Amino acid sequence: MTKKSQASVNMFALHREVTGSLHFISVKSPTNKRIKFIVDCGMFQEEKYQDLNQDFPFKVEELDFALVTHGHIDHIGRLPVAVKQGFTKTIYTTYDTKVIMGIALEDSYKILKKDSDALMYTMQDVKNTISQVKAVEFNKTISVAENVKVTFFVNGHIPGAALILVQISEIGYEDINLLFTGDYNNTNLFFEVPELPEWVTELPLTVITEATYGDSLSTDVEYSFIETVYEATRKSKDIVIPCISLDRMQKELYKIKYMQDKNLIPNSYRIGIDGKLAQTYTNLYTNRELYIEDDIADFLPRGLEFIDKSTRQAYMLDPTPKITLTSSGMGSFGPARVHILDVLENKAGLVLFTSYLAEGTLGRKLQETVDDDTVHIGEKTIIKRGTVKFTSEDSSHAKADEMIEFLKKFKNLNSVLINHGEIATKYAFREMILKNVKVKNVEIMDNDRFFRISTVHPIKVITSKFL
Ligand SMILES: [Zn+2]
Repeated sequence: MTKKSQASVNMFALHREVTGSLHFISVKSPTNKRIKFIVDCGMFQEEKYQDLNQDFPFKVEELDFALVTHGHIDHIGRLPVAVKQGFTKTIYTTYDTKVIMGIALEDSYKILKKDSDALMYTMQDVKNTISQVKAVEFNKTISVAENVKVTFFVNGHIPGAALILVQISEIGYEDINLLFTGDYNNTNLFFEVPELPEWVTELPLTVITEATYGDSLSTDVEYSFIETVYEATRKSKDIVIPCISLDRMQKELYKIKYMQDKNLIPNSYRIGIDGKLAQTYTNLYTNRELYIEDDIADFLPRGLEFIDKSTRQAYMLDPTPKITLTSSGMGSFGPARVHILDVLENKAGLVLFTSYLAEGTLGRKLQETVDDDTVHIGEKTIIKRGTVKFTSEDSSHAKADEMIEFLKKFKNLNSVLINHGEIATKYAFREMILKNVKVKNVEIMDNDRFFRISTVHPIKVITSKFL
């Protein structure tokens, strides 16, 4: 019996956990023609994976194209490395992601330059990367290679973020359909996230999904931001709110404005935003360079001051009580460090963290330090005298129950591959999918295995050590 040739897709993920998102996909046609592409090309940010940032376990010059789900550095940070090493083809993404990529990659380059003397790529590589980007509209199916079509759908994670549908068709065979969620959120404060059209939810489909919050429920989220800020202002405390520059910062600015409108913040308070990148992104929102709905475009608090190096000292010394929104979100970098130090040591004020705090960051250290104990901030040692609080209510990832609702919408789900999240979380989420969603296979993607999806067998898991 001769073995019948078939269309198939080989796919592997380069990342094990949360950062460094990269999928390599190789399509084999029945006539043995190959098409190779990547979905995202992120920088590893966990210290233990830093060494992996230099190399790719495939030939970048053989790639036919790249797709980008959204503009976060852990999904785009290594594109300039691929370009430097010989990737010259088109990078497809949405208009807003293209705008964000230009800013995010330039910023990332500057940070790398500050931290290391052996750079992985140059500013010219960043420029070349952006010149290779072709922006495409949402909901419009385009052909990107022979027999390969892609469609981008709105995703609430951040502006520009997309769910990407890849359809691979070979004459005489059923299509192979892959849907990449990237980082996913079912809503966004600043724009509507419509349901996927029926023609998509009815496709026989393999969904490659994230699971960042695969072990937490939306009902567990505590909404404490407004109350925490309100109580601190009753005591005329200085408040520092560290925020991620894109999306989170603008959400928290909106909340402060909402509180002003409801008279929940005394008029005497100065409101400042400090952090260059955060200010750049905020301007993209207010100038409508990113797609923002009309009814929320006016979200800046009254009297908002843009603080920078030249005004920071005078701003901090002014005895008027202040609410300062500042980057970075975990407190370790940027002006956040300076403001946190000032408010905790000199003013016994409030620091309200709004994002997930990774191990080793200043935010996490403060979380683990009891009041009146010492904390090291850079070379300084201070006594924790103020109040430190935390909220995750404005996270830009869907929770496990919301992800399950999303998966339930597909009528013809062949497989779900879980690609993004801490290892234990991915396993917990797998159990939850198996219990609640009608699907034939649920697999965990990591860098030890690759997956073969074919027109004959929906999925085959092949063990292989890539790294
Ligand atoms: Zn993201």
